[in-house]
Amino acid sequence: ATPTSIMAGSGRAAEFGILFKGGEHLETTHHIDTVIVDKTGTVTNGKPELTEVIVSKGMDEEAFLSLIGSAEKQSEHPLAEAIVQGIHDRGIKLQKVEAFEAIPGYGVKTTVNQKVILVGTRKLMNQYHVDISGVLQVMEDLEVKGKTTMLASIDGQYAGMIAVEDTIKETSKKAIKRLKEMNIEVIMMTGDNGRTATAIGKEVGIDQVIAEVLPQGKAEEVKKLQAAGKKVAMVGDGINDAPALAVADIGMAIGTGTDVAMEAADITLIRGDLNGIADAIIMSRKTMRNIK
Ligand code: ADP
Ligand code: MG
Repeated sequence: ATPTSIMAGSGRAAEFGILFKGGEHLETTHHIDTVIVDKTGTVTNGKPELTEVIVSKGMDEEAFLSLIGSAEKQSEHPLAEAIVQGIHDRGIKLQKVEAFEAIPGYGVKTTVNQKVILVGTRKLMNQYHVDISGVLQVMEDLEVKGKTTMLASIDGQYAGMIAVEDTIKETSKKAIKRLKEMNIEVIMMTGDNGRTATAIGKEVGIDQVIAEVLPQGKAEEVKKLQAAGKKVAMVGDGINDAPALAVADIGMAIGTGTDVAMEAADITLIRGDLNGIADAIIMSRKTMRNIK
């Protein structure tokens, strides 16, 4: 590639809100055949809202939410923020927390009023031997609607569940369609459960979903595809995505996401619109064609 064609290409891309970190990425992007997109904040807007609160029999809803809110207040996870906001909007007061532990990919563990509160996934409940057998069906019914559903226990007893719903970016469906028309394989990857992920994938036309990936597992999934001969672009916004963005043949960060993701990536999609993925590949192809 001549420096002139690279410069012209980078300039044109920048006008579309696509920032290539270096000229070499404008060259390598053209051979991408697989795109992995993160779910929350990438395919979706990443601003979930608390939509359901279901408490176990005999549990007072307000007391329940006060404990859950107090626990989540300590967490920096986007889900926690949504939960705390929803509880605040319901006018419920929070309490002082005596201990807190974030369990990445699973949830949180807190002590409030000398009660041990767990909020998170099925796996978290199973780890602490909380019996959730009676509520799994209700949880699944929420998940197939695309809602992220979390379970809570108080002192080892199941106490209730909460669900949050995230909205899908208006541009995601069309952006995915364009990639598929270019014969690019599209996969969605998330720490969220398979049912929720499949429901959201269905809405945007992604049928391949890798779910329940632990934070440290995202880069491993990219490597697996590379080992199978794929040229992989990873697209994400979160701190959790950074290792995968770095390992991918091309990492694309969402401009509205975290700085950590942008630092790890080769390209930043300033507008957060996934159409930038196809645009970047097309521009790279054009640049390479001008060179030959
Ligand atoms: P994502 O890729 O969706 O950001 P994470 O790996 O961060 O997912 O988390 C996976 C799952 O762990 C979440 O879908 C949720 O069920 C649970 N979880 C994570 N953090 C929290 C939290 N602060 N409170 C409750 N549940 C949580
Ligand atoms: Mg994300």
